[in-house]
Amino acid sequence: MMENVNIFINGVSYSVPKNFTVLEAARQVGIEIPTLCYLKEINEIGACRICMVEVAEGPRPKRLVTACVYPVSEGMQVFTNTPKVIASRRTTLELILSTHDKKCLTCVRSGDCELQKLCKDYGIDDANRFAGDRTEYDVDATAAHMVRDNNKCILCRRCSATCAKIQDIGVIGANDRGFATHIGCAFEKDLGEIACISCGQCIVACPTGALYEKDQIDEVMDYLADPSKHVIVNTAPSIRVTLGECFGNPVGTNVKGKMVAALRRLGFAGVFDTDLAADLTIVEEANELLQRVKNGGVLPMITSCSPGWVKYCEHYMPEFIPNLSTCKSPQQMFGALAKTYYADKMGIDPADIIVVSVMPCTAKKFEVGRDGEAAAGVPDVDVALTTRELARLIDRAGIRFNELPDEEFDAPLGESTGAAVIFGATGGVMEAALRTAVEWLTGDELKALEFTDVRGIEGIKEASYKVGDLEVKVAVASSISCAKKLLTKIKNGEATYHFIEIMGCPGGCVNGGGQPVQPASVRNFTDLRGIRAAALYAEDESLPIRKSHENPTIKKIYEEYYGEIGGHKAHEAFHTHYVERNRF
Ligand code: SF4
Ligand code: SF4
Ligand code: SF4
Repeated sequence: MMENVNIFINGVSYSVPKNFTVLEAARQVGIEIPTLCYLKEINEIGACRICMVEVAEGPRPKRLVTACVYPVSEGMQVFTNTPKVIASRRTTLELILSTHDKKCLTCVRSGDCELQKLCKDYGIDDANRFAGDRTEYDVDATAAHMVRDNNKCILCRRCSATCAKIQDIGVIGANDRGFATHIGCAFEKDLGEIACISCGQCIVACPTGALYEKDQIDEVMDYLADPSKHVIVNTAPSIRVTLGECFGNPVGTNVKGKMVAALRRLGFAGVFDTDLAADLTIVEEANELLQRVKNGGVLPMITSCSPGWVKYCEHYMPEFIPNLSTCKSPQQMFGALAKTYYADKMGIDPADIIVVSVMPCTAKKFEVGRDGEAAAGVPDVDVALTTRELARLIDRAGIRFNELPDEEFDAPLGESTGAAVIFGATGGVMEAALRTAVEWLTGDELKALEFTDVRGIEGIKEASYKVGDLEVKVAVASSISCAKKLLTKIKNGEATYHFIEIMGCPGGCVNGGGQPVQPASVRNFTDLRGIRAAALYAEDESLPIRKSHENPTIKKIYEEYYGEIGGHKAHEAFHTHYVERNRF
């Protein structure tokens, strides 16, 4: 059991765990100490100096320390709001502002910027107190997925720590020294030139508007206003449990019905569910796995739904390209389905159909432009928006989201299963695939649908299941650092599996780089991934059909159009290929 110490915070006595920092101790007793650079277990560097508090220990006089890295000790007295503390924080903010562009009126993060909030909280009324030289940086918009505006960077290094520690990639960092310090890439290359995997984890880590997704809202509005285009939308499984946060709902609120209603009011000709394509992915992928097992194909087979992971594999571990499932991701399968089957059924030229996706992921913006993603000769998907962009689009259209009624997805591409819903959480694709593969392998109806060993937010999960005569060994990894550990074990001959699910972001899509940005005060102390995932598992349990191969629409589209699962026509539409990419 953890030993405690007794401390005083603002004169009140508390007992707190001995290994806590002052920041953690204060938070546990309901006192918020402001932070900017601190991200728990990722960036604990005490650099920004916003979290200054006064402490008195033993006979030593009171002094200022950084609460985020300063450990508690027996009898310590902590003062979080003295005039000296407030003056220190105000001066720090004024110094940060001296090199900041302060264009809040036009900033994408205005309203949820951690710097802006602190300036308001601390009553900064002279943003130019320390005005002097400042460097004007060019905005880097060269990457498909994100923009970097160093004029809004406060050098907190939350982005580079996330890229290096969570993703084990490290393609961004602090360049130069002193006044010239700025966040950049090696040799000052542009973001579009480096081996960045487009995951967007740096964006959700950033407290300001210095990093943001490439905004495509105007493009979507232009398509919606064009009468020659049939514009349809599909939303990824996780969006229903995250979009609500952008409208003030608690983390984990399922807003599926209101999301559908909002999309309909935006003017989309069809409001569809990517979950249908997730079911499609499962039947194609389970079939591919069975073929590989039966015919001595390359194993382990590794999922290919996460474009961040796929890009990582292509840049950094190309030796695993033959292991990647050739199935397109659900986003791309949806686009292919829309521009072949749906176009045929509706009698619309695929070139006149515009497919808009709402995704938890910035790497989806890169994915839409990949080779081999054009089943009908035109791109499968035209625009991939993030959850945040959809929220801004809804705001721009003046739709009062929380007052909308609940509505249902449209036919014929809106029908899905519980198996598809859980795609949004780490382990979900594996569980969905097992529900189908086990039934197909044994020929018996699967009664117990929960594969709980592959659930949970741990970075690496392993399990083995007896299926008929076969001992099926599976593994699940989320975040690139965990994926790398798992794949390194395989390379070293320390582990063997039949099937592996890899998601590029920690916790899977519920925690993707396109999801609502929560401030560090929430991220540091709330299990965002676990709460959002629990909402998906609750929806799975509530649905009447929970196995992908039992989705009536899936059965129908093969009968009416594609023929056999894994057959020639399905292969042409729903499978793709991968390429080795430069690492430097
Ligand atoms: S980053 Fe924050 S403080 Fe800076 S311009 Fe944007 S909203 Fe304003
Ligand atoms: S998008 Fe991902 S890989 Fe690229 S810089 Fe950001 S964290 Fe690193
Ligand atoms: S880009 Fe954002 S996260 Fe990175 S150092 Fe600048 S302000 Fe911090």
